[in-house]
Order: sequence, then structure tokens, then C-alpha cells
Amino acid sequence: MEPYIDIHTHTYYAFENARLLLNVFPEEAEKFMHQCYYSVGLHPWYVHTESLEKNLKWVEEQSENSLVLAVGEIGFDKIIDVPWKEQAYAFERQLDLAEKLSKPVIIHCVKAYNELIVYRNKSNQKIPWIFHWFNAGIEIAHELIRRNCYLSFGHMLFKENSRAFRSFAEIPLSSLFLETDDTGYTIKEIYDRAAMLKGISLSSLAKSVGDNFTKCFSHH
Ligand SMILES: [Zn+2]
Repeated sequence: MEPYIDIHTHTYYAFENARLLLNVFPEEAEKFMHQCYYSVGLHPWYVHTESLEKNLKWVEEQSENSLVLAVGEIGFDKIIDVPWKEQAYAFERQLDLAEKLSKPVIIHCVKAYNELIVYRNKSNQKIPWIFHWFNAGIEIAHELIRRNCYLSFGHMLFKENSRAFRSFAEIPLSSLFLETDDTGYTIKEIYDRAAMLKGISLSSLAKSVGDNFTKCFSHH
């Protein structure tokens, strides 16, 4: 069977037949000791005036590493104290970087889907964005998919009253990723759950996600 691709995790783990995209924040350079793929980015929670330039420089340097497949997670979060203007500055700088390097972007989005769609309209849409922990309705899902975005699902598939759960049934397999994001589920549990909800076999789900991985990370 094709590997289980975990498109977003903060902790390295070894799991039979899993392939990870391990997220690394500034000051987590020790994570680069593993033989796996990485994403690097300054998350909106960690945008602070004093360390901003230093951290952005670090992201710039690390993102040149060929094992770093994506810039992220970066994005917007409306339920934190970091001012919007500062989040926007960090996001825009890192978006420019991703476009310069032609690397996909892992998006963190809390209550900012509409603002991110505005950014998406102005961005180079040949470079895919992956919305990790996607949790919005199907209309937003379609708006994003139409703009060459992928949507990643994880533990919310176990929360039947979540927007993620309700949207999932209608998300095309060709726009789908799966993730653990340190939520306590194994990637196999997430794949099993997703295959069950889609009513398809584990191997055809893994094949679809594998095809998405190839398309997302090598087409541009
Ligand atoms: Zn995360």
C-alpha cells in the first residue's frame, strides 16, 4: 500500500509506512536531525515585535534546505492577542518567500478564511496552499479548492458536530490531505476514519492522497 502521509505534525515519530511533513518553528532547529520532510515557518502565535526579524531570517535560511518542502505553518488567528497588522506583516513576508522558492504553503487559519481568500486572489495560484486543520463550511471549501488549495483533516473527523466533519463528505478526494497535528490520534486512525467516512478502501484513499502529494509538491 502507498504510505500514510501525515501532512502536518509537530513531533517526529516512526510509524510503519508513514511519511511525515514535520513542522519546525524558529528555535526548534534540533528537529532537523530526522530523515523526513519538513515545513518551516513563523506561526502567528509566535509573532512578537522583538524577535520578528530574527525569526523571519531564520525561516528564510532554513527554507532553502531541500528537505524543506513547504513554508508554514503561517497564517492568521483571530482569537489571539497578536495585532492583525503584525500577523499580516509576517504572513506577507513568508508568502513572498514561498513564491520566490516555489514551495507550497501550510496555512494556519482561525476565523480568517475570508481574509485568506483575499490574499489567495492576489497570490501566485500555481503554488498550492494547504489549509491544515481545515474547519469551515463547504462553500469556503469550494472557494479554496477552486484556487488550487488543498484541505487537510485530522482529529475533527471524530467530532461529528464540527464544520470540518460536515464538510468532509463533500470534499473531493483530489483536494484532500490528512494530518495528526499532535492531537493524540495515529495517522493510521485518521486514515481509517477518513476511508470509512468516504466509503472507500484504505488503499484507494492512500492512493488519492499520494497522488495529491506528488501533484502538490512537484508540479511547479
Ligand atoms: Zn500545527
